[in-house]
Amino acid sequence: MIRVDNVSKAFGGLQAVRGVSLEVTRGSITGLIGPNGAGKSTLFNIIAGLIPPDTGRIFLEQEDITGIPPHRLFHKGLVRTFQIPHEFSRMTVRENLMVVPAGQSGENLFKSWLRWGQVRREDGDILERVEDVLDFLEISHLAGELAGNLSGGQKKLLDLGRAMMTDARAVLLDEPGAGVNRTLLGRISAAIQRLNSERGYTFCVIEHDMDLISTLCEPVHVMANGEVIASGSMEELRRNEQVRDAYLGGGMSGQMGA
Ligand code: ADP
Ligand code: MG
Repeated sequence: MIRVDNVSKAFGGLQAVRGVSLEVTRGSITGLIGPNGAGKSTLFNIIAGLIPPDTGRIFLEQEDITGIPPHRLFHKGLVRTFQIPHEFSRMTVRENLMVVPAGQSGENLFKSWLRWGQVRREDGDILERVEDVLDFLEISHLAGELAGNLSGGQKKLLDLGRAMMTDARAVLLDEPGAGVNRTLLGRISAAIQRLNSERGYTFCVIEHDMDLISTLCEPVHVMANGEVIASGSMEELRRNEQVRDAYLGGGMSGQMGA
């Protein structure tokens, strides 16, 4: 579904991504792991059209989408979760979901924020979709809460909800578990699983929590120093010496399990 073909990116003299090729197949929950600074987020930003690669191409299905900006990728079916922008923290959870479809038609999310009242009046479909998302993620009780008052984990669920408000069925998640307590982490993990199995979503997930990765992801790609050094199931990767070394270097060997 997504094919990354020989992508490289340097920031000044620092080679953040070096000749990376990988695939995220349709219907998979593909994992992307690696020590801090490995180049994972940079690769996501390139796939999502936020930064152009120096070399290489990105394909969605058969189409070359290299350099296509995020608001156009929505329409093509690919979305990266966005942290809730500062100006949206004073809107309710329901309102945060409502502005997403408006944002799809323009490049400026802030403009869509100004239009959200119009969305509310004009589009019954959007309201129906909002209720479905709230229900699916079991956050209906938070609908009237200001987004700024949510816990870290609840914000991550809202992020996922915002992705669900687009027509995209391929979703890039950058550290959905970061700063989230165990209970909510389980709910986020279950939501990803159900979106995949019940609704046909394809995911590519960057995450440091190896329990979450082992539960959800196959295959898993490992990046270190800008390169993909191994790919396979978590079980295979745990036995891979190069992978273990990469984590030892980053002081994260404990996270790879015994
Ligand atoms: P990861 O997500 O795997 O932790 P990143 O992709 O964020 O890694 O970063 C890879 C390398 O690129 C790091 O050394 C980081 O400091 C550098 N880097 C990332 N983004 C930028 C940027 N916008 N400008 C300069 N250097 C950057
Ligand atoms: Mg990162």
